[in-house]
Amino acid sequence: MSKIQMNVPLVEMDGDEMTRILWGWIKEILIEPYVDLKTEYYDLGLTERDKTDDRITVEAAEATRKYGVAVKCATITPNAQRVDEYKLKHMWKSPNGTIRAILDGTVFRVPITVSCIRPFVRSWQKPITIARHAYGDVYKNVEHIVDGPGRAELVFTDDLDNETRQTIQQFDGPGVIMGMHNTNKSIESFARACFNYALDQKEELWFATKDTISKKYDHTFKDVFQEIFDNEYADKFREAGIEYFYTLIDDAVARIMRSEGGIIWACKNYDGDVMSDMVAAAFGSLAMMTSVLVSPDGYFEYEAAHGTVTRHYYKYLEGEETSTNPMATIFAWTGALKKRGEMDNIPALMDFADRLEAASLQTIEDGQMTKDLALLADLPNKKVLTSRQFLEAIASRLDV
Ligand code: NAP
Ligand code: MG
Repeated sequence: MSKIQMNVPLVEMDGDEMTRILWGWIKEILIEPYVDLKTEYYDLGLTERDKTDDRITVEAAEATRKYGVAVKCATITPNAQRVDEYKLKHMWKSPNGTIRAILDGTVFRVPITVSCIRPFVRSWQKPITIARHAYGDVYKNVEHIVDGPGRAELVFTDDLDNETRQTIQQFDGPGVIMGMHNTNKSIESFARACFNYALDQKEELWFATKDTISKKYDHTFKDVFQEIFDNEYADKFREAGIEYFYTLIDDAVARIMRSEGGIIWACKNYDGDVMSDMVAAAFGSLAMMTSVLVSPDGYFEYEAAHGTVTRHYYKYLEGEETSTNPMATIFAWTGALKKRGEMDNIPALMDFADRLEAASLQTIEDGQMTKDLALLADLPNKKVLTSRQFLEAIASRLDV
């Protein structure tokens, strides 16, 4: 059998711990036997980030701007304990944060669903996609601890040195203050990314903020979305037979619980952080949640939503065979290969990605799965496989 050829390389960002092990196996067992894989490889493993003073992360993001499509393995975001464990020069920033700051854009989180795992929310028949704004708010905040009485003010000085000044609080004792921002440019690209994605998927789009309380900050998000929708997307949505719906965040939460799914739910940065874990858990497992960063300039970065699965890695290091679920990482690869195929007009590559997804889902439907899923699956004859056995079971279905 001849392998599928690629023209333009994928940007491959390797990572850490158990997911790094899975990464190598996925390539070895499920991709390289079928595709003449062309990648530009960046090792974002913590050791290499430390060695390069984290330049490797910036280079990987810049390569994504050059080639258009990246696939990323989960990576450690170091904390004090990791600085010790890896003897780091510095507590490097989150690679995802660095990459997002360079590519900008919106993160779409989509659960992988299988019929033998029923969502915990009974009404959900179809996947719910979370579209998370990936810039600003509390993630780029400035915080201050107030030690005692005093006045906190919000001051803005424009480029002509005109000043506006508002009192935040007259403190009569200790407290806390936080300053946050966002930019219209980023909100606009968030809105367009969501509208485009909804049209692409032919699914309705919901957006929610707390504009009744935050009459300027959140209201700006609401207004920007509405204006862009009315001016650029209303007709296209009508033609596609889908709707854009705005409501308050608490109302959205209540409605989501009663919906049947099949919705793209656009969330501000923090709401998206929280809601994506809730949605992933309710659909069964964090190990079944995929993630794609869509930049306003048309760059795509695919990854699993979960982390490096540290607990399993330590067992692996002790020589134990683990049953870590590779599904979200497989789907990161298929997403990236499919997008590469679409951009370079290689139908065989798109078709291969579809077949790999189908074979992976079929393996689970046939009762062969990793431990996390076996605990949830509604099937009589479930068999728990190790990660490698599971990948080989998928390959056996690809070969037929
Ligand atoms: P995690 O790696 O997502 O794992 C948390 C727990 O969820 C695991 O211990 C495991 O539960 C379960 N789990 C997650 N993915 C699984 C999979 N594929 N198969 C089976 N079970 C899975 O989160 P964490 O332990 O909080 O973080 C570990 C490291 O990952 C941290 O250093 C963090 O910085 C990093 N991280 C990276 C990213 C990213 O690169 N996008 C995202 C989040 C976290 P059991 O132990 O009960 O089996
Ligand atoms: Mg989170």
